[in-house]
Amino acid sequence: MTTTLLTNISTLVTNDPALGPTPLGLIEDAAVVIENDTIAWVGRSADAPAADTTHDANARAAIPGFVDSHSHLVFAGDRTQEFNARMSGQAYKAGGIRTTVAATRAATDAELGANVARYIGEALRQGTTTFETKSGYGLTVEDEARALRIAAEHTDEVTYLGAHIVAPEYADDPAAYVELVTGEMLDACAPYARWVDVFCEKGAFDGDQARAILLAGKAKGLIPRVHANQLSYGPGVQLAVELDAASADHCTHLTDADVDALASGNTVATLLPGAEFSTRAQWPDARRLLDAGVTVALSTDCNPGSSFTSSMPFCVALAVRDMGMTPDEAVWAATAGGAAALRRTDVGRIAPGARADLALLDAPSHVHLAYRPGVPLISDVWRQGIKCR
Ligand SMILES: [Zn+2]
Repeated sequence: MTTTLLTNISTLVTNDPALGPTPLGLIEDAAVVIENDTIAWVGRSADAPAADTTHDANARAAIPGFVDSHSHLVFAGDRTQEFNARMSGQAYKAGGIRTTVAATRAATDAELGANVARYIGEALRQGTTTFETKSGYGLTVEDEARALRIAAEHTDEVTYLGAHIVAPEYADDPAAYVELVTGEMLDACAPYARWVDVFCEKGAFDGDQARAILLAGKAKGLIPRVHANQLSYGPGVQLAVELDAASADHCTHLTDADVDALASGNTVATLLPGAEFSTRAQWPDARRLLDAGVTVALSTDCNPGSSFTSSMPFCVALAVRDMGMTPDEAVWAATAGGAAALRRTDVGRIAPGARADLALLDAPSHVHLAYRPGVPLISDVWRQGIKCR
């Protein structure tokens, strides 16, 4: 057993209301004891017990490691030209995914694995200690299973997204593709995945198709999450709530009935401001969701087409500036909110028994994540008790 005392923390975000005021459970002049890979003690520096080693935070703030509950990291190639064209006036459509599908199919396992490792490293340097990632750029039985196998080498939070778009080979027969996604492809993919996801959107999959795909996944023991209501109004959000999905992701175009459904169920609304930023689209209205009592998470949606950022601090800043969230709400959504969207209680908080995932900021308060946008404030990161930055 090894213990590390992290002391002299100016402001500690615990996300445990039992440990301090507000939902962030803030403690001033705080200390944390890490025992192996777990948080063993949290409190004031003056009351801290002795430990094997001591790390002085020098009056900086500490937050739980970010929980990025939505990313698409198994891909090859990039879409610089498409982004450039869009920023020159073209509209974003779901079909650009095909470009990445072609590049991903052509890549070797080693190339895909190296790409995943690169973006995880990038995210870790920005404070992300837990992340989910999806398939969805293979769209054949072999390529989807391969993507999930590679993802599973890097995270436990793996999502089967064979239903990202209809595979190009099935453009004239989407029903046959849904049959593949709910049959042979699901059988090959389920052993590597915890979640099943579908892009429920015009140009991708409609409500009936999405329902069939999510129910087939559920029957194989996968838990649903849904790309819902990103580009237009539609059935995705209410379907997510009806099927007890862990999360409805995007939630940009919502009716009052959609908001009421989210407020009444267990489904987290995961907002992905990197996508609206990178497509110059309308922001999701986080304030409306929070005021209705919906649990909100923030995530990067890191992918080469519509949101090529791995930065949770960037998403926090956008959510505060443009989506009506307070800095406290945005930091909670990027940590505890992400954990809720993954139905996890061991991450997203700094409290005894939680996994020792935390980040020190080069700032006296977590508010600086939104106050100082674009500044690399993450100075030290512990993941499962190991200091990795
Ligand atoms: Zn996505």
